[in-house]
Amino acid sequence: MRIARFSHNESIRFGIVDEGELVVLSGDPMFAGFDTTGERVPLADVALLAPVIPRSKVVCVGRNYRDHAAEMGNDVPTAPMLFFKPNTSVIGPGDAVALPRHSEFVSYEGELAAIIGRIAKNVPASRALDHVFGYTIANDLTARDWQKSDGQWARAKGFDTSCPLGPAIETEFDVNGSAVITTRLNGEVRQQGPISDMIFSLAEIIEFASAAFTLLPGDVILTGTPAGVGQITAGDIVEVEITGLGLLRNTARPA
Ligand code: MG
Repeated sequence: MRIARFSHNESIRFGIVDEGELVVLSGDPMFAGFDTTGERVPLADVALLAPVIPRSKVVCVGRNYRDHAAEMGNDVPTAPMLFFKPNTSVIGPGDAVALPRHSEFVSYEGELAAIIGRIAKNVPASRALDHVFGYTIANDLTARDWQKSDGQWARAKGFDTSCPLGPAIETEFDVNGSAVITTRLNGEVRQQGPISDMIFSLAEIIEFASAAFTLLPGDVILTGTPAGVGQITAGDIVEVEITGLGLLRNTARPA
């Protein structure tokens, strides 16, 4: 099932994507179930929004693909390398990425995102995926110069608009399958790698993260990026596509 959050006639609602239309839901399906209002709206008539606004946090994993760690000159980590993005960093499909003032180099990073659906604390990897509501696409935009100068990654990874999510949540995606992440910059392929290349699986990431802090329904986990990251500048169009999840497109503009 594919679930979209959308704006239509000045109201924000959720719907199930069904052949070019949205079957409108009466509430947020993560908390209110899948009751429908009986209404159907053509997809062409709505603006898609970020399919989830993280309840408390976006948890991200750095250097989770060997070829990306290598291209940045880093060793492969021996445990998941976690950092946060604030929920104010989230934007939706088609929204503009506002390149922050005073950064000279912002990079795209196409990533698979998982949305947590049940409270997770001290969850073993064997039960971790039971806590996932669904999957979507993310772009972990990074001010690479700030990442180097600051030591900490809060500013580099957490600036407003640094976390595009969408276009929808797919509940039946196989996270241990053969899906491929492809990132295009102005139509040209820059990143292409199978999610099976992740060093730490999503289940292992949830186990590791939930041993330290509670994951809440609506929290989002970004699982790392394959090789091929690079700079975006004002006017650039970045598209991240994942097999079975659709395509997330955003354009960059000055802040
Ligand atoms: Mg990343």
